[in-house]
Amino acid sequence: MLRRLLTTSLAALTLTMTTTGVSWIAAPSPAAHATISSSVTASFPVVRPNDNNNLVRIVQLALGDYGYSLTADGAYGSGTLAAVTAFQGSRGLTKDGVVGQNTWAALLKPLDTNSSGAMVKALQAGLGIDVDGSYGPGTDAAVIRIQWATGQTQDNLVGSNTWAAVVGARAYVHGVGPNQLYRSRWHDYAVNGYMPANELCGIAQNSNWRFACRGVRDFNAMDAAFKVKFGHVMPVTSWSASLYRTYAQQVSAYNNYLAGTGNLAAKPGTSNHGWGLAADISTSLMTSTESSWLAANAANWGFVRDVSGEPWHYHYIR
Ligand SMILES: [Zn+2]
Repeated sequence: MLRRLLTTSLAALTLTMTTTGVSWIAAPSPAAHATISSSVTASFPVVRPNDNNNLVRIVQLALGDYGYSLTADGAYGSGTLAAVTAFQGSRGLTKDGVVGQNTWAALLKPLDTNSSGAMVKALQAGLGIDVDGSYGPGTDAAVIRIQWATGQTQDNLVGSNTWAAVVGARAYVHGVGPNQLYRSRWHDYAVNGYMPANELCGIAQNSNWRFACRGVRDFNAMDAAFKVKFGHVMPVTSWSASLYRTYAQQVSAYNNYLAGTGNLAAKPGTSNHGWGLAADISTSLMTSTESSWLAANAANWGFVRDVSGEPWHYHYIR
């Protein structure tokens, strides 16, 4: 069902492009990108003769899709100028060799996971990944990341806004790891520290403190058992990010660690807290009896202490 919907949407987008020239850049189909953030608008940096950068390389590769055979070296020389002006002429554009909004719009094509060839190479060059012209798992992952990071639907449909994010260097890419959030053609993806709100649930002792929903029942059961035993709930450290930790909060924690003013913290984008799958239970707020009991029994609810030097860090592994 999802694949059919995506295919239909892409077909609509392509049709718009072929029947109205460049309009798909300015006005992507609402049907195809109904949930694109309004803050994301397609705009492209201008590429000029004598430029020497990755944008030129994207242009060179994309021109290959129209039969222009160029060395994708990122150097905008006479060969690239001849190809760009010929392409502009073929599209009724001003033949000035300047790749501005209209030329970008005419040049780039929508892509999806079934795409291959020169246009995919251009995309890959923009994403900074291996350029092989095959829209495989690596491209899939990079597109999902950039769509996520720019507030777009993670659908692997490379339309105007995704192209704008790629070409416009708006890329803001964080780590990717396994989870059960976003199903693409090859994998499920999520982005550490950017969990969607509906994948996080408050814990019983404080509904504002969020944990991955799938682990909350076990966390609450462990907490309840702790309370039966000791008369109070587990002392989750007062910082709400002791459970789920956003990317920004990971940056903050890591900077404090580097500055010597905070606990050991993982490199941003890599912490299990960023998946909502770790809880810091304060060892300094527990008696040694309480700490020992928790360490001995947490596995009953799927929690393990697996970071050396962090006895307070409980990782949910079910
Ligand atoms: Zn921790």
